[in-house]
Amino acid sequence: MNNTNQDTICALATAAGSGAIAVIRLSGSEAFDITQSLFFPANKSTILSELEGHTAHFGLIKQDDEIIDEVLVTIFKNPKSYTGEDSVEISCHGSVFIQQKIIELLLEKGARMAEPGEFSQRAFLNGKFDLTQAEAVADLIASESKTAHQIAMRQLRGTYSNRIKDLRTELLNFASLIELELDFAEEDVEFADRSKFVELVNKISAEIEKLIHSFKVGNVLKDGIPVAIVGKPNVGKSTLLNALLNEEKAIVSDIPGTTRDVIEDRINLQGTLFRFIDTAGIRESNDTIESIGIKRTYSQLEQASVVLFLIEAEQNLTLEGIKTQLRDAKIDFESGEQKIIVLINKTDQINIAKLRGDDEVELISISAKNKTGLQEIEDALIAYVQQFNIQSSSIVTNARHIEAFNKSFAALQQILFGFESDIPTDLISIDVRDALYHLGSITGEITNDELLGNIFGKFCIGK
Ligand code: GDP
Repeated sequence: MNNTNQDTICALATAAGSGAIAVIRLSGSEAFDITQSLFFPANKSTILSELEGHTAHFGLIKQDDEIIDEVLVTIFKNPKSYTGEDSVEISCHGSVFIQQKIIELLLEKGARMAEPGEFSQRAFLNGKFDLTQAEAVADLIASESKTAHQIAMRQLRGTYSNRIKDLRTELLNFASLIELELDFAEEDVEFADRSKFVELVNKISAEIEKLIHSFKVGNVLKDGIPVAIVGKPNVGKSTLLNALLNEEKAIVSDIPGTTRDVIEDRINLQGTLFRFIDTAGIRESNDTIESIGIKRTYSQLEQASVVLFLIEAEQNLTLEGIKTQLRDAKIDFESGEQKIIVLINKTDQINIAKLRGDDEVELISISAKNKTGLQEIEDALIAYVQQFNIQSSSIVTNARHIEAFNKSFAALQQILFGFESDIPTDLISIDVRDALYHLGSITGEITNDELLGNIFGKFCIGK
C-alpha cells in the first residue's frame, strides 16, 4: 500500500552549481498544491492536481509580481512515480540564484527540505523496489566505468535479490512447519520433512557461497582492478607505467630505488577500470625510507588481482629461469590466486628468442621505452576481466550484503549441524530464524530505522 500521507519534501535533484538547466524535485501529498501556489501556467486554467501524470507544463514561477523564471513542470501521480507518491519535477534555468529562490518559495509554501536519500527511502517504503535495488541506484550514480555500470544495473534489475527472496520464502515455509511442531511439542509430531529440509538448507548454502565468492571479484570490478607492477630497480617499472598512462606521473630515473613509494593510477581499458600500482623495487635495502616502500610493496602485492612482473631481457632466458626469479621475489604463481603476467622488458636492446609461457605464467615481450608490446598487455588484462562473465553472473559488490550473507551462511551451517547432532527442534528453530533474519535484511523484507538510516543517509540530497 502506498503511504501518501507523508509531508512534502523538496530538493535540488541535479548537481549543485550552475548549469544549463536544473531540476527541483518535490514529493508528497501536497506536491501539486504547493507547486500550484507559485506556478503560473501558460494555460491559465491548468490545475496540476487534475492533470494526467507523466505530463509536462510550461509556465512562470513568480514571487508576488516578480518573475523568477520560466519553467517546465512535470507531474507524476501516485503510485506511478519514483517515490510512489504525488511528485513534481520543476525544470528551471540552472542559475544558483534561481534554484535557491524556487526552493525557498517551496519551503515557504509548506514543503520541507528532503534528507539525504529521502526520495529513495520513500520509494523503498512504498514498495517501489527492494533494498538491494535502492542501493544499486546509489551505485549506478557513482559508477565511473562500463563494468561498474553493468554490475549496478544488474543489481537494479533485482538479479540476485529476487533469487534470495525465493529461497527465503522456501525456508520460511519450512520454518512455519517447525514452529507448528513446537506448538504440538507434547504430541511429538513431525510436520517438516527433515531430509527435504536439509536438502533445502544445502541448496541455499551453496547459492550463498557462490555469491560470497563473487564479492572479491565484484568489489575489484567496481573500484578498479588492482594491478601491481613489480620488479627489480631499474627494470623499467616507472617507464612502463608512464607509457601505459601516457603521462609523466611516476619518477623515472637511472638511480636505483628512486621510486620510493607506491604510486597508483587509474586507467579505463575498454570500459573496465584498472588501478595500476607502481611499487618500490623488490630487494633488500638498508635505507629506511626505501624499506618502508618495500614493505608496502608486499602488502600491495598481496592485494593485487594481477601482477605485472618486469624482468630485463637477456640471452638464454628460460621459463624455468623466470619462475626462479618469481620465487625469489616471493610471487606466488602456483596457487592461481593472482594472474601473473611476466613482462620481458628492454627487448629493444637485445634480441631474444621467443619464449612461451604456460598455465601459471603468461609471458609478453615489451619495450617500455619504445612503447612496444603495450597492446598485448592491454589484451591480456581484458582477457582476465572477460573470464568473470559480468553479463551473466550474479556479482555482489555491497559490503552490507556480504556481511548478511556471511551471517546467513553461518546460521545455515548451524542448522545442518543441529540436525546431524540431533539437537532439539526448538534450538534449531533459533538458527532458522537467524538465517531468515539475515537473508531478509539484504532485500529489506526485514528492516529497522537504524538500517534504513545507514543506507539512505549515504545517498545525496535529492536522490
Ligand atoms: P624502475 O626503477 O623499474 O622504475 O625503472 P625506470 O622506469 O626508472 O627505468 C630505469 C632505466 O631503464 C631508465 O633509464 C629507463 O629509460 C630505462 N628503460 C626503461 N624501459 C626501457 C626499455 O624498454 N628499453 C631501454 N633500452 N631502456 C629502458
